[in-house]
Amino acid sequence: MYWDKEIETIDRPALEALQHKRLKTTLQQARKSLHYDRIFKEVGMDPDAVKTVEDLEKLPMTTKEDLRDHWPYGFLAASRDDLVRMHSSSGTTGQTTIVFHTANDIDQWASIVARSMYMTGMRKSDVFQNMMTYGLFTGGLGFHYGAERIGALTIPAGAGNSKRQIQLMRDFETTTIHIIPSYALHLTHVFEELAVDPRRDTKLKRAFIGAEPHSEKMRKKLEDFYGFKSFNSYGLSEMCGPGVAFECPAQNGLHIWEDHFLVEMIDPQTLKPVPDGEEGELVLTTLVRDGMPILRYRTKDLTRIIPGPCECGRTHRRIERIKGRTDDMMIIKGVNIFPIQIERKLMGIPGVGNNFLIVLERVDFTDLMTVKVEVQREYFMGDLRQLEALRRRIVEELKSDILITPKVDLVEPDSLPVSEGKAKRVLDNRKD
Ligand code: ADP
Ligand code: ZN
Repeated sequence: MYWDKEIETIDRPALEALQHKRLKTTLQQARKSLHYDRIFKEVGMDPDAVKTVEDLEKLPMTTKEDLRDHWPYGFLAASRDDLVRMHSSSGTTGQTTIVFHTANDIDQWASIVARSMYMTGMRKSDVFQNMMTYGLFTGGLGFHYGAERIGALTIPAGAGNSKRQIQLMRDFETTTIHIIPSYALHLTHVFEELAVDPRRDTKLKRAFIGAEPHSEKMRKKLEDFYGFKSFNSYGLSEMCGPGVAFECPAQNGLHIWEDHFLVEMIDPQTLKPVPDGEEGELVLTTLVRDGMPILRYRTKDLTRIIPGPCECGRTHRRIERIKGRTDDMMIIKGVNIFPIQIERKLMGIPGVGNNFLIVLERVDFTDLMTVKVEVQREYFMGDLRQLEALRRRIVEELKSDILITPKVDLVEPDSLPVSEGKAKRVLDNRKD
């Protein structure tokens, strides 16, 4: 049941001692980079003198902007000769950031991805189809190396080409897939079109879904359609990529691998720590990386630590599914709204289809939100009063959660843009 029982069930004092040891090595390594060398000098920090993890609080946090400002080599802490791989972030919020890996970094990364997959029950007898983009994006090769580490037959299918994906699943009896949740929902249409029932016609039993926020309702919808059990996978290229935190069979929060990452949770406004259980922004420090260690990285991802032990016996703390990035927050008529709130409501309404888009506009100095929602085709064929009733229901349900009344436009299936990568949920047409 455990990939590495000793480390996964390590008691907290031993884990903290290990973190401390690794932090010291990380700080010494980080000093070799131009950026951290300057920062250490600025704050008068001697990495060799760091006694406790708390000493880290003297250091300013690192942001995506810092990485962008020092593009491409400012954070590099190893000799270029020792690098074996480069990846980048997806660029969801602007210019991508670059991350370099040594052979040891790749090895460490593969080990936590393997640990994560193994935790969900994946074994060498499984057939793993990786439906994520291969290339600079970390979701392709990151999972690929983890799956090979387990010894599973790994199909590097890459993203898109839906019909071929389904064919591969059937021909090679894929048991496990890695897929972006919005794309998995889109793919349900293609299954229906081909009259292939994944429960009957495939051997799928498990899916790793991640890379973008999604709700529990979305998970249920996917599990119901495909008949698999799905596990939330969280990661970010700056830390390595996937494998940072992963759901266990209890499906109640994601264990964050604290032997590899030091976890802080802060209030994004005041930057002060928030206690376990309270929502905050996740801040991470790499503990085993040589090529490009990153200290106190502001992920901009909002979540909370779930207090208390997990029934699976692992001692690494759990985070709740990511609510969204701080950047994703929309402020409409003074109300803070995250796209996941819209998604969660929509996924629970019968008749709603597979895709939606939030459009923001500014008219007469007022921000307006329109939610375009794909609904099932039969609504456009029958009595249009049913369509109107569905529209009203959506307005009411959304209003009960987001507290403002959005405009809702119902559209036909497959009429909104589909992404093979992370879904773009918000189209912001507001002009400043
Ligand atoms: P980018 O930050 O440009 O999207 P990455 O490919 O490194 O580039 O993506 C990492 C980010 O993706 C995370 O910081 C987070 O916002 C999002 N993400 C990754 N996995 C999940 C997940 N399981 N749930 C929600 N968001 C996720
Ligand atoms: Zn668990």
